[in-house]
Amino acid sequence: MQCPCGSNISFKQCCFLFINQQAQARSPEQLMRSRYSAYAKKSADYIYNTYAESSRAHQSLTDILAWAKDTKWLKLTINSASEYADINIKKSINSDKKEDRSNTVCFSAYYQHQGTYFIMKETSRFIVEDSQWRYLDGEVSINEELPTPKRNELCFCYSNKKFKQCCGS
Ligand SMILES: [Zn+2]
Ligand SMILES: [Zn+2]
Repeated sequence: MQCPCGSNISFKQCCFLFINQQAQARSPEQLMRSRYSAYAKKSADYIYNTYAESSRAHQSLTDILAWAKDTKWLKLTINSASEYADINIKKSINSDKKEDRSNTVCFSAYYQHQGTYFIMKETSRFIVEDSQWRYLDGEVSINEELPTPKRNELCFCYSNKKFKQCCGS
C-alpha cells in the first residue's frame, strides 16, 4: 500500500514509521507529511501529540477523530518547504533569531468531506519542542468546494487520470 502522503513508497516504509513512533520526523516537511497520513489513517493520537503544546490546548482528540472519520484525504502536494532538514539544528532555532527562521511548509490537499470534494491550501508553521518537530499553526489561504467531475472526465487533482481511476475511485 502506497503512503497517503504521495511519496511513492509504501506506507510501512514512510509515514507509518513516524506515526508508529519508530522514527522521528527530521524536518517540518516530514512532520507535515506524517500528520497528513495520520489524518488519512485516522490516527488521532498522533495528530494530537504532534501539535505544539500551546496549540494542543485548543484541540481535543474527540474533535480530531470526528473530523477524520467524516473526511477522506485524496491527495497531498507539497508546494514549498523550508530547508531545515535536520533536527540537530534545533539549538540554533530555539536560541536566537527565531523569527527569522521560517519553519514553514506550504501544501495543497484534496479531500472529500461528507460527500463533497474540496481543495485546501495552507502554510503551516512548525517549531521544535522536546527535541521534536511539532505543528504550531497554519494559515489557510484556500478552502473551497470543487464540482464533482463525471466519472470519465479528468480528475481535478491534475493527475491526468480519469476521475473514476483517481480521486473518485
Ligand atoms: Zn508518507
Ligand atoms: Zn485525483
